Amino acid sequence: MHPIINTIQQKFEQTFSEKPLIVRAPGRVNLIGEHTDYNDGFVLPAAINKAIYLGVSKRADDQIHLVSIDLNESFTGTVNKLEKTAPHWTLYILGVVEQFQKAGKTVGGFNLVFSGDIPLGAGLSSSAALECGVAFGLNELFSLGLDRVTMVKMAQAAENEFVGVKCGIMDQFASMMGHKNSVIQLDCRSLDYTYNPIEMDGIEIVLFDSCVSHSLASSEYNTRRSQCEQGVKLIQEKYPEVKNLRDATQQMLDELVKDQDPVVYRRCRYVVQENRRLLEGCEDLKRGDVAAFGKKMFATHEGLSKNYEVSCPELDFLIDCVKDQPAVLGARMMGGGFGGCTINLVKKDAIPQLIEDVSAKYEARTGKKPKVYVAETEAGVDIVHENEAATA
Ligand code: ADP
Ligand code: MG
Repeated sequence: MHPIINTIQQKFEQTFSEKPLIVRAPGRVNLIGEHTDYNDGFVLPAAINKAIYLGVSKRADDQIHLVSIDLNESFTGTVNKLEKTAPHWTLYILGVVEQFQKAGKTVGGFNLVFSGDIPLGAGLSSSAALECGVAFGLNELFSLGLDRVTMVKMAQAAENEFVGVKCGIMDQFASMMGHKNSVIQLDCRSLDYTYNPIEMDGIEIVLFDSCVSHSLASSEYNTRRSQCEQGVKLIQEKYPEVKNLRDATQQMLDELVKDQDPVVYRRCRYVVQENRRLLEGCEDLKRGDVAAFGKKMFATHEGLSKNYEVSCPELDFLIDCVKDQPAVLGARMMGGGFGGCTINLVKKDAIPQLIEDVSAKYEARTGKKPKVYVAETEAGVDIVHENEAATA
């Protein structure tokens, strides 16, 4: 078991003189399906073996006592008045309490100590992990009887409403619903989901963090969303049944968008192709053909860079570095773009050398060392049972 669990148990016993219930809440990657969520399309995330661990216990009073080991901060409040004035990380926790209360679920006072190994703000969804861990822990502690999908929606609502971040549902879905050696094919329109096995024998997920975040990200994100909507409007003139790019075909784009607006056309074409790539990629995975799947990841990067134009020189360079490496089955930028990580599927034996080579090249080019994370798929949020914790 993970050493962080020991740390939490010790801190918890020191602070509250009792043993906590321990919850593990993983981060996530998204293998393919980028900028498809707000077009009602598909995404393909997996929970990973980097997680936030939370120790929780009930209190006899109405107080909330929170301790962040990683930030070395603590907070005391009450369930009767959830304040947004405290340190930022408390918002992810109190926001979940608020959602439970809105749903008519009674949450009493509680103690919570947490720590994790998901890098903060790197695009591996430490925020969703925190929300999902809190939801799962409180549900268990107060026997509230909420099912996982309900908690996914509450965790997302907490981030939307209490933290004020307009995130989609993928991150919370992956953290809560993940299965080891599987990717979740999630339909962002219906929330239907299926698990596809991913044959990761001898392969691991390597993330190179470009360590850049361009200020362009949020304005360009809004522009992309409105360009997708413009494309849909043009298509609807002839095909009113098309509600979103999810329903559009290449032929519709060629017929109705191409001559009207070449930029909107390129944006929409990327989205239509990406949804198709994801569905075809799932067929590759069902056949156990990770190599074919990996090629589609490279194609996704090409589309994001050239047609959707949400990459940046640093991300493109990280992809160029691995493109011709036989040990790299697939790679692409991951997340909204203009910075963050690339995700790479790499043969295990070649990983140390690859990390060394790419890091040196990246530093020579940009003056920055990339951060590197190696991950595997893992099960979604769960209780860490006493016997597992004891062998930590
Ligand atoms: P991401 O979800 O991509 O990691 P976000 O900016 O959405 O990045 O969420 C990061 C925020 O989540 C942090 O600023 C912090 O408030 C909170 N957080 C995540 N992990 C931890 C942690 N281990 N300790 C304290 N706060 C954390
Ligand atoms: Mg986040």
